[in-house]
This record gives sequence, C-alpha cells and structure tokens, in this order.
Amino acid sequence: MTMNSNTPAVRFEKVSRHFGDVKAVDEVGLEIGDGEFFSMLGPSGSGKTTCLRMIAGFDRPTSGHIYLYGQDVSNLPPYERDINTVFQDYALFPHMNVGDNIAYGLMIKRVPKAERMKRMEEMLDLVQLTGFAERKPSQLSGGQRQRVALARALINHPKVLLLDEPLGALDLKLRQQMQVELKSIQKRVGITFIFVTHDQEEAITMSDRIAVFSQGRIEQVGTPSDIYERPASAFVAGFVGTSNLVSGEVAKRLTGSDQTFSIRPEKIHIEFGSGKSEKDMISLEGAVRDVIYLGLYTRYLVEAEGVDFVVIEQNLKSTSMDVLSAKGQKVRLSWHKDHVSRVGG
Ligand code: ATP
Repeated sequence: MTMNSNTPAVRFEKVSRHFGDVKAVDEVGLEIGDGEFFSMLGPSGSGKTTCLRMIAGFDRPTSGHIYLYGQDVSNLPPYERDINTVFQDYALFPHMNVGDNIAYGLMIKRVPKAERMKRMEEMLDLVQLTGFAERKPSQLSGGQRQRVALARALINHPKVLLLDEPLGALDLKLRQQMQVELKSIQKRVGITFIFVTHDQEEAITMSDRIAVFSQGRIEQVGTPSDIYERPASAFVAGFVGTSNLVSGEVAKRLTGSDQTFSIRPEKIHIEFGSGKSEKDMISLEGAVRDVIYLGLYTRYLVEAEGVDFVVIEQNLKSTSMDVLSAKGQKVRLSWHKDHVSRVGG
C-alpha cells in the first residue's frame, strides 16, 4: 500500500451497484482528499446512501473498485476498514449512560479504564457536552444525542467518518447550529468527513467540495461556489438553489448564442415601468404574474418573452403592501452579463 499526502482518502474507480434492473450506482469515479469535508448531495433515490454503504463495507460494488488511502478495500469487511458511521437515528445504547456510550469502542478494544475515561472526557469537551457523562440518552435532547453519536464515532480516531443525513431529525434552528458546529469539529480533528444529504443549503454551508448525484451518477463535483455559480448541467442548476433556465431563440437574442444559460433569481434586478438598458447589462421587459411576500424578501414570478422568471428581492425598503400591489405590473428585468452561466445539458 502506497500512502502519501496526495493519496486520496477514498477513490472510486468505475464503481457500480446494480439491484436487478435498478442501477443504484452507475460507473461512478470519484476522489475524496485526505481531511476534506465532502458532501454527497442529491434527491431521494439518486444513489448517495448506496455509495456511503459501499465505502463502509456494508454493501459491495457489482463492479469497479473502491480504494481507501490507496488500498483496494472492495472486498474487505466493515470491521477491517478504518471507518466509522454516524446515522440519522443516533443508534445509542439506551441502557448505557453517555460516557459509556462514547467509550464503547475503546472498551471493545480493551483500552485500560484510565485511558478510556481520559479520552471520553476529551470527546465530551469536543462536542460541548462536558459534565453530561452520567446522563442516560433518554435524558438528552435530539441535538445532544446527535453530539453523543458523533463523539462515539470519533473516539477511535477513524481515518474517515461517514455521516448519513445525521441532522435530518433536528428542527431547522438546531440543524443550522449543528451544521456550523460539525464543520468546526471536523476542522479541529482533521478527519475526512463524508456527509450524505438531500439538503443543498446544508451541503453548501459545510462542505469543502460537493458531489451532486442524479440517478446513480455524479453530475458535478466541485466547491460550493463552483456548483452554485457554474452549474455543469440543467439538473445541477435546478437542484442546487433556484435557477432560471433560458434556451433557444430567447437565449440567442439575449446573449448571441442559443446555448441554454442559467441566471440565479437574486442576480436579477427588477424595475417597475420600462426603464432603459445599461452597459454590460442584459435586459428584457415582462409582466409580474405572481408575488410571494416572504418577510425577509419577496419572490416575484415574471413572464418575459414567453419565459417564466423567478426573481428574488430583499425587502430593504418595501413593505408587504408595496410588493403585493406589484401583481400585473409591467417591469424590466436586467442582470449583468457576467452573472449568466452556460449549462451543458
Ligand atoms: P435517500 O436520500 O432517499 O436515502 P439515496 O440517494 O441515498 O436516497 P439510495 O438509497 O442509494 O438513494 O438508492 C438508490 C436506488 O437504489 C433507489 O432506486 C433504491 O430504491 C435502490 N436500492 C437501494 N438499495 C436497494 C436494495 N437493497 N434493493 C433494491 N434496490 C435498492
């Protein structure tokens, strides 16, 4: 086994997992770097969990190879891989207290008690649960249970930590708080995290890089800004955030090329009345078909040249009365030409 800092933590080489006719994972190639926070993002059924299960060794590829730090592990059982998994449902032992739950992996390895206690306390500090060792899981909130699950998975210092929708059961506020914490814990421990989610905002908040899955294949791998600002396909543009796709004749008239392009709703400026074009701006006239007032911002649905555009504007000065009266009005939409992104398919 060769290993240096350039050896990817995980490498997929043409990995497929078929269940009869269902191509759950289809010839996926992928490299995840050592110490990366890497997310697998995609809609339900796109193959993310199957990929995760194959990395863990709970499932095997029908064809292709999986490497961990250069070693082909395609046929190794889970316990021979230096990997741990955190699941959405925590899977804590209900009869054991928090401290014993966290130290469980060390007990199995027959680590002496004093050492076990020391490392368990360190883990409690890491996940900000200092002083909770004696509690039972039933005496904790959902977010606290998830932290215990994380501490338990990290205590053995695995090379790779897999997280399967770990925040899925938490309410939005707690979820957002845990996103920030998870990321900071990952940076502190330096372990490669592979995170499965169908929530694009979550993936964008936490990841160094993201792989966007669709139907067993990877549509795009890139940093959050790559994925958001330069979506490689219409699927990515639509799945990661909201996007306006313009193609054919209208695209040609606006940009000189009939290749489909995407423009994000927040990049479009909306002006009531007809206005005039400015340098480097692409603009067209339309009419407001619908208005949704969302407190912080307003979402307008504007029809222009036969295309329905979604436009988002922050409610800096306008009130709900102002924005709701916009329905039916003529408007000019404009955006800077640099904010247009060409999409492949
Ligand atoms: P979710 O977000 O809903 O968990 P996912 O992206 O993780 O979805 P997978 O669980 O990897 O998707 O499933 C991919 C496809 O493989 C789905 O069509 C699923 O029905 C199918 N599949 C997964 N496991 C099995 C199995 N054991 N037998 C048959 N089909 C399976």
